[in-house]
Order: sequence, then structure tokens, then C-alpha cells
Amino acid sequence: MVRVTQAKGLLAAFGLASINTVIATSQTSLQSRQKSNSSDITPYVEKVSDYVDSLEEELWSINKEIHDNPELGYKEVKAHKLLTSFMEEQKGWNVTRSVGGIATAFMAVFEGSGDGPVVSFNAEYDALEGLGHACGHNLIATASLGGALAAAEIMREEKLAGKVILFGTPAEESLGGKVKMLEAGIFEDAKIDISLISHPGNGADTPYMITMSTDRFDIEFKGLEAHAAAAPWQGINSQDALLLANSALSYMRQQMRPTDRVHGIIESGGSRINVIPALSSGSYQIRSADDEQLEDLTDRVVQCFKAGAIGTGAKLNLTMRPYGYANMNNNDGLAASYSRWFEELGGEVPEADLDKTRDPSGSTDQGNISHDFPAISPQFQITFANGSVPETGPHTEGFEVAAGSKPAFEKALLVAKSLAGVAVDVLTVDGLLDEIKAEFKKSQSSKLRRRRA
Ligand SMILES: [Zn+2]
Ligand SMILES: [Zn+2]
Repeated sequence: MVRVTQAKGLLAAFGLASINTVIATSQTSLQSRQKSNSSDITPYVEKVSDYVDSLEEELWSINKEIHDNPELGYKEVKAHKLLTSFMEEQKGWNVTRSVGGIATAFMAVFEGSGDGPVVSFNAEYDALEGLGHACGHNLIATASLGGALAAAEIMREEKLAGKVILFGTPAEESLGGKVKMLEAGIFEDAKIDISLISHPGNGADTPYMITMSTDRFDIEFKGLEAHAAAAPWQGINSQDALLLANSALSYMRQQMRPTDRVHGIIESGGSRINVIPALSSGSYQIRSADDEQLEDLTDRVVQCFKAGAIGTGAKLNLTMRPYGYANMNNNDGLAASYSRWFEELGGEVPEADLDKTRDPSGSTDQGNISHDFPAISPQFQITFANGSVPETGPHTEGFEVAAGSKPAFEKALLVAKSLAGVAVDVLTVDGLLDEIKAEFKKSQSSKLRRRRA
């Protein structure tokens, strides 16, 4: 009876199975669950928490060093060296310093006792040009590092089957490090079952990151130079083409969905005041709630660019950047497990059904992973050293300061523990990974149905 009650509590907390399912589970399975003590997470919570706390000093120094030495995408040489050297010192971990032909991408593997679930964590460590770690990726590295080490420690102590993998995933900001790694088959070859990451912000703590699909365009208009006063009629004004296209986009905004975004910059528009500009260029990014809506928005944006060319006679050269980001496909099973651990450890999250209806904001290349493997990217609120929440979110000067604070680091440790908890659940709770995979499969097929519709 006790066994059933415990199992009911656990599965109900995950929101995945009813008591009927539990009762229908064979006696043998319940007994083995009881034997492995996996129906009660309390002992694991203490172990995970104590272990992460024992790493606090080392993690703080890694966190601070990454934060104080910001490096741009694919150039994260110091952070990469710091993280791979640290992982090489850890007992039982095998580190591959470079994967997928990317110098600053790495993989560290901890093998359990035999075949079992493969739980993986992604660590980001790139910064923003001119803004440093204003997206707080130093905290992402810290949370994933601590999470992976704690999950491996439980695996070692409990002699669990399976693997824990920590991936070093560079160049998240605009350059699609994870997309490149996906294309190189890094995650598929490692046979990962789940993918875990997190992201700091100034909003409420939540296991759900709701992001947009996004693409980028580089545009260039080629016109014809002419004397701006003596013979302007002989010229073709590329700058006018760019401004016309930009105006067309501005008019289009009124008819866009609330979840669509178009934002861009004009990079060049001629250099001499008395010459009709022959070459002008700009860069635009577009975002939508999902890939289908993004496709629709892309068609409309391209029409606006063409309008600039038609109106002026300039020639349009349009280049789409190769790494588009997909929206996050959040896995409810993983999210429920995260919430349970996060709350057990003293955190608070909103009610899931309501939380999931939030409007999307921002984009991440973890989105691409989430359409290939069950994944989550919980968001966590950080504060300045004085405990106040930054008024502005990531990609601002204030957020960069907060991302380097001690309280932000401490929050990242709480996230590390909760992410480790998800991994421990997947490794120890009978049937949980099957449920997570079934949900993931369903999310894939419904997506395909939508595409055909
Ligand atoms: Zn960012
Ligand atoms: Zn970020």
C-alpha cells in the first residue's frame, strides 16, 4: 500500500499518469522501484544538493572567469579551455576537446554501469559584441556543468546504468552553434535521450522557455553611380531602394501577427553626398511563433525587399543566413520533473497550464534540438548583488552586471540541482523516459499533420 501511495505521488507530480496506470503496473516493477528507492526523490534531493554545494567554490571561479572574459561565438578559446580542463580533472569523465569540426565545441562523457538512458546537458559560453555576458551564458555554463557533475555523482554512487553527457555548445548568439552540431550528427551519434539546458532572465522562474522561430537576411541593393546634381537621372539610387524596402516593412507591421517580429539595421548607404549611392546594404531578422508562420512571414518580407528594387530599378541581392532557429518544443514530462525538484529545493514556478500560454519571446538554437530530442530550457530570474531584479532583460548593460553577481550564481546552482534532478528522475524512475519519449513523438506527429494541412 505504501508503495502504491508513493508511486502515485510521484507520477501525479509529473502529471503523466493516473493512479489507475500505477495500479496496473506489475507488482515486479513496483517492487524494483521500491528496491531502488526511486519512488521517493528525497534522498536524491539531499545528495544532489550537497554535492553541488561542495563544488561551489570551483564553480564560482569558473563562472566569474567566463563572465569577466567575454568571448564572441566560435572564439570562446578561454572558456573552452577552462571548461574542458576542469572536466578532464573530474574522475570518470572522458573529454573530447573538439567535436563536429568546431574548435570550441566539446563533449564530456560519464559512463554508468551498462546500457541505460543517455541524459545530456548543454553548456553555452559565448558573449555579445560590445556588451560582454549580457545574455548570462556564463550562468548557463555553470548550471549545466553543476547539473551534469551532480547527475554523474548519483550515477556513480547508485551504480546506475546509462550515461551523462555534457556538451560544450558554442556560438548561440546568432551563429547557431547547436545547429551546426546537429548537422554534424553530434547529438545523434551520442544517442542522447534527453537534452537539458537553462537560461537566465529578469522574468519569473519557469521550466518553460517559450521562444520564436527565427531567420536572418543580409540584403544588398546595387544601383548606378551618377553625379547627384549634374546628371542624377543617369543614376540608380540603391539607398532609396533600401529605404523603400524598410518603409514597406514598416507598413507591413500593422498586418503582422502579435507574435511576428521584423527588426533590422541599415549597414551602408553610400559614402559621398554628391554621388548617387550605387551600393547599400542592410541586415534583417524575422521571428514567428513557429516554423510554419515564419515561412509565411518570410514570403511577405521578401516581397517588401523586392518592392525596394522595383521602385528604384536597383538590383536586389538577398542572402539568407544558413542557421535559422526553431521555436522551443518544450517537453511537459521533463518540465514537470524540473518543477518538482525546483520546488522541493525551495523555488517556485507558476501553474504549468497557464504558464505555457505566455507569449513567446526571443529565440534559441536549443529550439532546433527540441524538435529532434525531448528537451527543456528552464528560465531563471537573476538579481544584482543587492537583490534587485534588473529592469531590462538580456542583451542590456544592466543584465551583464547582474549576470556576474553572486546571487545570480547562487540561483544558477539551484538550477544546476534541479536539472540534475531531471536527469536522476530519467535514470531512476521506471517508465518515465518512455512517457517522455511518447509525448515527444506525439509533438512531432502533430507538427507533421499541421505541415500537411
Ligand atoms: Zn542572447
Ligand atoms: Zn542567451
